[in-house]
Amino acid sequence: MRDNSCKGRPLDFVEQLKSSVDIVNVVGEYVKLRRSGANRYMGLCPFHSEKTASFTVHVVHQFYKCFSCGAGGDVVKFVQEKEGLSFYEALKSLSERYGIPMPKRSGYADEDSKLRGALLAMHEQAAESFRANLQSQAGEEARRYIAKRGLAPETVEHFGLGYSDRSGRALVRLFEQRGFPVAQMEKSGLVGKREDGSLYDTFRNRLMFPIHNESGKIIAFGGRALSPDEKAKYINSTETDLYEKKKVLYNLHRAKEAVRKEDRVILVEGYMDAIGVTAAGFRNVVASCGTALTTHQVQAMKRHSQRIAVNFDPDGAGASAAERSIDVLLAEGMQMRIVELDGGLDPDEYCKERGAKAYQERVDGAKGYFYWLADRARAKHDMHTPEGKVAVLNFLLPKVQSISDQLERMTIAGDVAGYIGVDRGMLLDRFRKAAAERSEKAIARPISPLRPDERMLLVALLTNAELRAEMIGPLRSLQTIETLPSRRIFQAIFTAQEAGGRVGFDEINGRLEEADQNLLAQTVLNEDGEISREDVLAAMASMQRSEQQNLRAQLKTRIGEAERAGRLEEAMRLAQELGGMERAGHGLRGGGHV
Ligand SMILES: [Zn+2]
Repeated sequence: MRDNSCKGRPLDFVEQLKSSVDIVNVVGEYVKLRRSGANRYMGLCPFHSEKTASFTVHVVHQFYKCFSCGAGGDVVKFVQEKEGLSFYEALKSLSERYGIPMPKRSGYADEDSKLRGALLAMHEQAAESFRANLQSQAGEEARRYIAKRGLAPETVEHFGLGYSDRSGRALVRLFEQRGFPVAQMEKSGLVGKREDGSLYDTFRNRLMFPIHNESGKIIAFGGRALSPDEKAKYINSTETDLYEKKKVLYNLHRAKEAVRKEDRVILVEGYMDAIGVTAAGFRNVVASCGTALTTHQVQAMKRHSQRIAVNFDPDGAGASAAERSIDVLLAEGMQMRIVELDGGLDPDEYCKERGAKAYQERVDGAKGYFYWLADRARAKHDMHTPEGKVAVLNFLLPKVQSISDQLERMTIAGDVAGYIGVDRGMLLDRFRKAAAERSEKAIARPISPLRPDERMLLVALLTNAELRAEMIGPLRSLQTIETLPSRRIFQAIFTAQEAGGRVGFDEINGRLEEADQNLLAQTVLNEDGEISREDVLAAMASMQRSEQQNLRAQLKTRIGEAERAGRLEEAMRLAQELGGMERAGHGLRGGGHV
C-alpha cells in the first residue's frame, strides 16, 4: 500500500488495474483457496510455513491478510512479494496477464527492475539461440542424444530444449550485438569472466533445459554434457537476481494446473524424468533437479496439492534422497507415497519401456512412505533378533512422531507395529508417551479487539455509501468514538469523506499506519456476511447508548467534585442535568414509559 501512494506513480492506472483484476483469481494461481464465509476465501499462507490455514482473501475489499506472519496488502503487493518483483514489474506482470494495456512512460522503472528486465530478456534470447543451435548443423550430436532418449520433436519443442555450441563465445557475441553491458552479462549467470577480463559462455556443448519460474518466465538453464569426457554430467546456472536454486522446481509452471485438478503431484529427480513422464501423458510432474528437496520447494507444491508421489531413481542415491525428502515433506504436512519401479528403471525409462498404463498403476499403488521406510529398515537389520527389531523401531519412531495429525500418527504407529512384528500395545504406549510431550501449536484466529457495534459501523461506512452519508454526521458528534481502539480508522473515514474522494477499503487503508491497517483488516474479516440496514441502525443506537453512559459517568464525576469543593449550586444543576439525561436514556432504550 505504501508503495503506490506517491512519487508520481500512475495512480489512475493502478486503480484501473485493481478494479479490473480479481485478487481471488490472482492469489488463486498460487494458493489453493477455499471459500470461507460470504466474502472471503482461506488457504495456506504462501509467505510462511503453516499447516492450518490463516491466510485470508477478502472478495469485497480485494485484499489478503495472513494472521500468522502478518503479510497483507492488495493484489499488486501480493504479486510483488510472491514473485519478488518491484512495484512497477508487478503492475506490468498483471497488466500483461490480464490484458490491460499499461500506459507507456519511461519514468516508472527503477534500477532493480531494469536489471531484472535485462536478465529476463537475456534468458529469453539465450533460449532462442539454443533452440536454433539444436536445429543447426552444430546440433547434430545433441539431436542424436535426443533421439537415443526417444524424445519426440513435439516434446523437444514443448520443453524448449536447445543446444549450447562448442565455441564458448556464442552468447557473449549475441549479448554484445544486442547491446547488453558487460556488468549485466556477468550478472546473468550465462556468461563468465576470465582473469584477463575476456568473457566466455558458461554452457558449452550441452543439451540445454530452460528453467522457468512459477509464472513461466525463463530464469535459468540446466545443461547436460554431451561429451563423455565432461566431468559434470549436469550443470545448472549459478544463482542470480532471477534464480534462487532452493526456491525453484523444474516444470512447476506447466504442471501446477494438473496438480490441482488431480490433487496430486509427482516428484521426480531429473529433467529427463520430468520430461519423459510428462510426455507419457502425466501432466502433474515436477523435478527437484540436483538439489536436496527444500522447504521452499515443498511449500511451492503444497500450494497446489498436499498429496505427493515421490518417484526418485531406484539406485541407492535415489533412495537416500527420497529418505531425506521424507523429513522435509512430513514437516510441511504433506501426504506422501513412495513410488517404486521394478527392473531398476528410472521414471523416464519406465514410461518408455512399460508404457503409461503400467506407470499409472505404480503411482496409484505406491506405498505409504512409512511402509517404504519399514522395508528399508528391515532390509538393513535382522528382524529375527530382538536387537534387530529395536534398531528398526528406533529408526522409525522419530519419523512417525513427526506426523502432525494425531489420529494419523496413532494409526500409522499401529500399522508399523504389525508390519515389523512387534507388540502393538507396547509400541502404542511408547508413541502415546511421546505424543503427550508434543506441544501442538495451533494457530488461533485473532479475536477482534473491537466491539460488535464498532465493527459493524466501520464495515457499513466502508461498504455502503448511502448509510455512510446518513451515519457520518451523528457519529462525528459522539465523543465515544474518540475512546475506541478503532478511533483512527473512524477519523480516516471522516477525513476521506470530507475530502470528497472515494471512500473504500483501499483509500482508508492507505491513510493508516501499519498497526491500524492490521486492525482494519481484522475488522473487515471478522464482520463477514451481509449487513442489513437494521443491523447498522441497531449498532448506531448501541453506540449512542455508550455515549449516554459515558456522559452520565462524566457528569457523576463532576457532581462529586463539585460537592467535595462545596459548590453545591453547581452540584444541584449538574444533578438535574443527569436526571434529565437518565429519563431520556430510558426513552432511548425503548422502555416506552417516560
Ligand atoms: Zn503467513
